[in-house]
Amino acid sequence: MTTSIIRAACPHDCPDTCALLVTVQDGVAVEVRGDPDHPTTAGALCTKVSRYTERTYHKERLLYPMKRVGKKGEGKFARISWDEALDTISDRLKGIAARDPQAILPYSYAGTMGLVQGESMAARFFHKLGASFLDRTICAKAGGVGYGYTIGAKIGTDMEQFQNAKLILIWGGNPIASNLHFWMRAQEAKRRGAKLIAIDPYRSLTAEKCHQHIALLPGTDAALALGMMHVLIKEGLLDQDYIAQHTLGFDLLKERANEWSPQRTAEICGISVDEVEQLAREYGATAMRGDAVAIRINYGLQRVHGGGMAVRNIACLPALVGAWRHAAGGIQLSSSDSFPKNAKALQRPDLLPPGPLPRTVNMSTIGDDLLRDASPDFGSKIEALIVYNSNPVAVAPESAKVAQGFAREDLFTVVLEHFQTDTADYADILLPATTQLEHVDVHATYGHLYMMANNAAIAPLGEAKPNTEIFRLLAARMGFADPCFTESDDAIAAQAFDKGDTRAIHFDWDSLKRKGWQKLNMPDAPFADGGFPTPSGKCEFYCERMKSDGLDPLPSYIAPYESLASNPQLGKKYPLAMISPPARNFLNSTFVNVQSLRDTEGEPHVDIHPIDAAERGIRSGEQVRIHNERGSFVATARVTDKARKGLVVGLSIWWKKFAADGKNANEVTSQRLTDMGRAPTFYDVLVQVEKVESRT
Ligand code: SF4
Repeated sequence: MTTSIIRAACPHDCPDTCALLVTVQDGVAVEVRGDPDHPTTAGALCTKVSRYTERTYHKERLLYPMKRVGKKGEGKFARISWDEALDTISDRLKGIAARDPQAILPYSYAGTMGLVQGESMAARFFHKLGASFLDRTICAKAGGVGYGYTIGAKIGTDMEQFQNAKLILIWGGNPIASNLHFWMRAQEAKRRGAKLIAIDPYRSLTAEKCHQHIALLPGTDAALALGMMHVLIKEGLLDQDYIAQHTLGFDLLKERANEWSPQRTAEICGISVDEVEQLAREYGATAMRGDAVAIRINYGLQRVHGGGMAVRNIACLPALVGAWRHAAGGIQLSSSDSFPKNAKALQRPDLLPPGPLPRTVNMSTIGDDLLRDASPDFGSKIEALIVYNSNPVAVAPESAKVAQGFAREDLFTVVLEHFQTDTADYADILLPATTQLEHVDVHATYGHLYMMANNAAIAPLGEAKPNTEIFRLLAARMGFADPCFTESDDAIAAQAFDKGDTRAIHFDWDSLKRKGWQKLNMPDAPFADGGFPTPSGKCEFYCERMKSDGLDPLPSYIAPYESLASNPQLGKKYPLAMISPPARNFLNSTFVNVQSLRDTEGEPHVDIHPIDAAERGIRSGEQVRIHNERGSFVATARVTDKARKGLVVGLSIWWKKFAADGKNANEVTSQRLTDMGRAPTFYDVLVQVEKVESRT
């Protein structure tokens, strides 16, 4: 028996991008574990990825190309050869492209975060074709834009520093489920005497383990940040020197914050005046003592109408108290802009046909857009959809419309997948893609500062192929002769980072592959001496770019589209707010079909407060229907005060096919977009809940 240990990286949409050690015996991966030597992984993996071999060798892995033989959505397929699959796809795409290549739309997101298997050969292919651009807004765009207005780029506190903070605000996230290695640092900080405060409408696993939990109403985080500014300014809990040297617009901010008394803030956020004042005092006073105060803000809070503004407001707080002076202070939303990714080399936008750029379709409104006819505003009707690294029928908002669009008989749909997901059921041609253990990749991350390599541990299973190879073969059939379409995955990976940038000066693909990981060359405290990557070089309390973009240039509050306060008429019919954050054992819609993980999650459920449940005659374990004007889904009620009164929580994202009624929480979410970044508003939803008398 031959045994080897292969260095790999977790590909999933998680900030931690763990370093993996894969044990391979006679060509079979028998164990996946965390690399104990990688500083952020520290030998620990989440439950999901420690079951990676169960997922890789799952009996339902797609192993051969297939064509649809049943109705769209029915999921009936017959095996075909790769030649037949590629010929069918290229013939259809050639025909459509001859009329208008923009009628072809790629649809992809973070099913793998790899720079090679994500958007390298695929992007080259669609650029050369002149297909529509996809605006990849579905997860993080609103917050990224809001953070960028204030800080300049997605750069922040290094995850490896958080254990040295004395106060950590965990704002809008549940790291035990979705940022485990940050949580390990936060726990270490707690052991060293730090206070942890969770700010989240839901008492998540993380909130339960923090010293304090502030359960504000969904979509009101921007107001809480303004109320904190009010108290900090009024009580002089400020680093005047840092403000004078490294910020822009303090006097204007002071006027704005003056409008946000703790009373007004508390009323909007649905919390007590005391909670607002104490939070601000604790934050300001800890910083004034010279201790590090840190905020780990996450993407949950930006999935509402004013989500961009909320992140922008919260990102102002560290500069007010001088928290950036400490390596362990400041704020982290994402570390992704720390990486000098060489997108031009990976994606080759120079391949685009001459003339005007193709139109852009927003992935968050795919439900409406698939149902649109050709028009001067929209352009061509979408005739072909190539889906990879994504499962839109389960994850995109207003799901009934998404499914209706995918069911169009005149739409040609190709899906690259590991499994027969809800989306795969609608494919005309279904192609088997390799998993992370079967291909090469290179990773930037959005939670730490290490460039990561993924070596192929095993040969592809069945006839599965890497995404890159599938697009290489399609490019050849389309007659794309540019040399970049024959580059190997290693050659692509070697171009991933810009070596001319001092941050990646030590990047060398061959040595990264051998070592597995390499830290960027970055200062410990990125903004201790200012130097923000904004046009002014300062933290912008006042932001001229926001004004030019038609936004309020100062921190402000944008109410949810759907809340009892902002839309009382709607609230009479649908009085409960609903959020659908990630279930611990799933990662978006990945892993839902891994039996051991689904067994742990049980069945789709909603958490509802005891008072709301009693008003509706609902008891734990009963089936309930959650509904609004967009649709409905059925789940099992869990009566618990983890959900504050007026809130229901449906942990997600379930595959529809595993639910009793074939639906999930996205039946009730809307396609309305955020204030910035044209992103979705998944957590800006009012619903009614009623008992289902008998199981459907
Ligand atoms: S999903 Fe996140 S925590 Fe789990 S192994 Fe991957 S990177 Fe690590």
